[in-house]
Amino acid sequence: MGSLRVAVLKDADGTERRVALDPDGVTRLLKAGDGSNIEVLVESGAGSAAWFSDESYSAAGARLVDRASVFTEADVILSVRRPLAGDIDRLRSGQAFVGLLGPLTDPEMMSELATRGVTAISLDGLPRTLTRAQGMDALSSQANVAGYRAVLVAAAHFDRFFPLLITAAGTAKPANVLVLGAGVAGLQAIGTARRLGALVSGYDVRPAARDEVKSLGAKFIELTAAISGAGEGGYARELTPEERAAQQAELAEHIARHDVVITTAQVPGRKPPLLITADTVARMKPGSVIVDMAASVLGGNVEGSAPDLTNVTANGVTVVGAGNLASEMATSASQAYSRNIGALVAHLITDGQLSIDLAGDEIAQGVVITHDGQVVHPGTEALLKTPAATESGDSR
Ligand code: NAD
Repeated sequence: MGSLRVAVLKDADGTERRVALDPDGVTRLLKAGDGSNIEVLVESGAGSAAWFSDESYSAAGARLVDRASVFTEADVILSVRRPLAGDIDRLRSGQAFVGLLGPLTDPEMMSELATRGVTAISLDGLPRTLTRAQGMDALSSQANVAGYRAVLVAAAHFDRFFPLLITAAGTAKPANVLVLGAGVAGLQAIGTARRLGALVSGYDVRPAARDEVKSLGAKFIELTAAISGAGEGGYARELTPEERAAQQAELAEHIARHDVVITTAQVPGRKPPLLITADTVARMKPGSVIVDMAASVLGGNVEGSAPDLTNVTANGVTVVGAGNLASEMATSASQAYSRNIGALVAHLITDGQLSIDLAGDEIAQGVVITHDGQVVHPGTEALLKTPAATESGDSR
């Protein structure tokens, strides 16, 4: 029997279809522990919504258990998202809970986990520019899946072909697709729309994005307004109100000419920037489609969009507020997430035990939110001191 028990919890809020570890991830984790000092438990049915059967987990070497046993037996619990409110009471001191916890959007839950003595580890705190952490970058892997899916969602709502088609029944013009925000999700959306045969343009406020957009065979939209939105760590900065107004006005001209617009713009720690006003939507042609990947309870890139809400405007534009797009492609998203979380857990294990080095390990410094009864993540700690300051739709 292994000395460290790692358990996969079913994300059971009724909407999440991803699972934290796939059967291949079980095999990898057992190998990382040399087969002798790690045991992997999987909650029965944990992978079923992503098409991983209980049998496939058993075959990979996991022991299937019920939900209660996950909490009583595990040293480390793996999840995709936060624990359910009803599960928090079942977590015990010394246990670690690993997932995409979004600590900045629910600092109070992190405080509760600290009080319970739980070590909360969140993949969204990972220092993404560290080369050795790239295999653990779940924000990128899930954004990649979501960017791909956004194009399929847009295509499914669009009542015309994406590619140029020449048939005996006539010629179909290719769709004009515009992707706003060319980070991980945006670049994947550009590549996917290109593969479907659309004419694709991209735009980002970071000058570095220009070459990346062009290298995918898309056109980069240049604005005449001198806005350079590069911020810290490769991310964008928040624009001033004047810059934002200039950007909205100039983008409106381009948006009106496109059939499909996919928006992905985010600024870490801030609510998503508004790129498309209702007036701009009103200028688009009937039958046009917008997918707002930034839709959040705090607002999105498109005025009036909300997560999981699809609305057809009076002028016939379908505005899709994306929900959890990665969960809609649960198998690929879980396979990638499994690699990320498995690599992170393997990194944190020394001699068959979870060992957290907050003094010397940059990766631990980023991902460990609570430890030894304390909230140790500076951003989360700051929010708990001034809760009114939270404006974040994002957890980095
Ligand atoms: P993100 O989700 O924070 O934002 C998405 C995009 O929105 C970004 O490209 C951002 O510039 C853009 N944006 C923000 N405000 C905008 C506005 N007003 N108008 C237009 N666009 C706007 O970004 P992300 O996908 O997480 O990636 C951000 C950066 O980090 C990219 O440069 C990416 O290549 C880099 N990155 C690096 C690594 C690595 O070094 N290993 C890993 C992941 C991402």
